[in-house]
Amino acid sequence: MLNNWVVMPTCLPTVLRRCHACASESFRANGKFRVNANHKLLDAWLLVLCTACGDTAKLTVLERMNVRSVRPELLDRMHENDPGLAAELLQDPVVRRRNRIALDWDNAWRLDTGGSDHLDRAVIDVWVRFAARIPVRPVRLIAEGCGLSRAEVERLITEGKLVSAVQLSGKLSSDFTFTLKR
Ligand SMILES: [Zn+2]
Repeated sequence: MLNNWVVMPTCLPTVLRRCHACASESFRANGKFRVNANHKLLDAWLLVLCTACGDTAKLTVLERMNVRSVRPELLDRMHENDPGLAAELLQDPVVRRRNRIALDWDNAWRLDTGGSDHLDRAVIDVWVRFAARIPVRPVRLIAEGCGLSRAEVERLITEGKLVSAVQLSGKLSSDFTFTLKR
C-alpha cells in the first residue's frame, strides 16, 4: 500500500530582499496588491512589508500591459487582494527573477502524514507530494514522518534499507517516492 504524505504551506514564505529604509533583509506579503491604470496601460504590484521597520516595497507583477491582454479573472483577484494569488505569484520563478527576490520557507510549511499507522509495517512505501514548491531536505522529512532521528535516516540510506529513484541528500521541491524496509 502506498502512503501519501503532503508538504503543505501553512503561510506565505518570507521574501528575501534588502530594505532601503533599514537594511533588514526580510519582507512579508500580506496579500495586498496595487493596480494602476494609465490610459490603456496597466501596472500591478504585490506589496510586501519589511519585517523590521514595516516599510512597504512593491514587487512588479504586470508592467505596462495593455488592459485588454490581461485576463479579467487575474485583475479581479488583485482587486480582491487574494492571498492565494500572492502565494502563486511568489512561487513563480519569473516573478522572483524580475524582482530579484528569493524565498525563505522556514516555519512556513508542515508535513501531513495522515497518521502513524503505517509505521509499524516491515515495508513502507511513501509518495511525498508537494502542495507548493517548497525546498526541503528529504532526510528531514523522512525523519519527521517516520519518527526517526536524521542520523538514523542517514544510516538506513547507507545500509540500502531506504531507497528512492531520486537523490535523498540535498534538497527537493517536487514529488518523490521512497521505500523503507526494516
Ligand atoms: Zn526595513
